[in-house]
Amino acid sequence: MNIILLGAPGAGKGTQAAYLVNKFAIPHISTGDIFRSNIKQRTEIGLIAKSYIDKGQLCPDDVTVKIVELRLANEDCKKGFLLDGFPRTVPQAEALSKITDIDYVIDIEIPFERLLHRLTGRRVCAKCGASYHVDFLNGKTTCDCGEELIHRDDDTEETVSKRINVYTQQTQPLIDYYRERGKLISVNGDQAVEAVFEEIVQKLGK
Ligand code: ADP
Ligand code: ADP
Ligand code: ZN
Repeated sequence: MNIILLGAPGAGKGTQAAYLVNKFAIPHISTGDIFRSNIKQRTEIGLIAKSYIDKGQLCPDDVTVKIVELRLANEDCKKGFLLDGFPRTVPQAEALSKITDIDYVIDIEIPFERLLHRLTGRRVCAKCGASYHVDFLNGKTTCDCGEELIHRDDDTEETVSKRINVYTQQTQPLIDYYRERGKLISVNGDQAVEAVFEEIVQKLGK
């Protein structure tokens, strides 16, 4: 099964991705995680990506499409994959359509007023990409995998509002793009994590 997770920053894509890859035994491909890993390793791609990510802007389409194309060519993607945070622009979606076929696009819907709290309180694992929220950590500072949790540099109040604008202008048009192609599944992201997951599984089964 080839799946895309769509949704505003903070909608819960990464959180649902962890459940989905576990259930369907497919690889989780997060372009955000790939960029952050490149930044950490100070690669050329990382250097380019950092300048955009810090400003809350999208990285250039050509660079982004290239890293996804390389990743999808891996053997482990033959049985399916879950794309999280890609595509984010119509040109990226068009490029993807030339690389592979997509079965479902899951759009996680969430009122924008929920996003600031979700993102400023988000804590992530730089090693495995797991996503947590301070509201539920009870003071814990480490990931289930043992690594220290961090607060992402771009999860600040200032950058979040920019990212929401970027989402509205460049990513939201993909909802219609995939609806017109009969791929879209919309779920309510404004409910408990488990309830969102149940809704996704139920709608995928139809
Ligand atoms: P979030 O989880 O908040 O949606 P991501 O971790 O997916 O954020 O992405 C973080 C940043 O990485 C984005 O704000 C953007 O700068 C860059 N990025 C990630 N995916 C893409 C993409 N498909 N196209 C362009 N830039 C991207
Ligand atoms: P995205 O990948 O779409 O940017 P994340 O999965 O990283 O979003 O979630 C953003 C923040 O919201 C994290 O702190 C996460 O723990 C929290 N979160 C995710 N889903 C829910 C939910 N259904 N209810 C409450 N908080 C959530
Ligand atoms: Zn971890």
